[in-house]
Amino acid sequence: TEFEDMFLRRELLMGIFEAGFEKPSPIQEEAIPVALAKRDVLARAKNGTGKTAAFVIPTLQQVDVNKNKIQALLLVPTRELALQTAQVCKILGKHMGAQVMVTTGGTTLKDDILRLSEAVHVLVGTPGRILDLAGKNVADLSECPVFVMDEADKLLSPEFAPVMEQLLSYLPKERQVMLFSATFPMIVKDFKEKHMRSPHEINL
Ligand code: AMP
Repeated sequence: TEFEDMFLRRELLMGIFEAGFEKPSPIQEEAIPVALAKRDVLARAKNGTGKTAAFVIPTLQQVDVNKNKIQALLLVPTRELALQTAQVCKILGKHMGAQVMVTTGGTTLKDDILRLSEAVHVLVGTPGRILDLAGKNVADLSECPVFVMDEADKLLSPEFAPVMEQLLSYLPKERQVMLFSATFPMIVKDFKEKHMRSPHEINL
């Protein structure tokens, strides 16, 4: 398959090619069509496989930039990864005009509140801060149908797991979950059983 065969919008394809991606990596080839069909995706993926674009591309394809709502929530366990992931969203979504916001602990809440008074289509961040913003009604996740977890084994560690449960209550019931993880400990399997709907499983 080629990116051109994936029925992606032209503006998104431009971002993909400008990023220097010529062909989909194996995980992208498998994940993107399934995700575009709005199915849940559960993928075992290591760094360096192109996993970030594997969820960013179908995420961006589903964003309506004319709608002033958060339409995708991308959760990651660390600030470092949040910044990297947001950067990929910005590069690939550049020609779409997708507004991407990144938020993690360690920055002032005030700046986040200000930023959220403007358009945000894709919100990337760590669980604690996002729960904080959702709980304070600053981040409205009620019309956010796309929910991505990267490094889910870490996101579901005992430290984060209760936060994750609470966060899910702010998302609409009709939602697509994409979960990426290097390992599948029990806690990830439990999450799958509880919160995912017959996900397409990828094991590369
Ligand atoms: P990741 O596994 O998401 O950390 O990506 C690893 C590296 O592969 C990053 O530097 C990406 O920019 C790059 N990459 C991702 N997808 C592609 C692709 N389809 N073609 C070429 N490079 C890619």
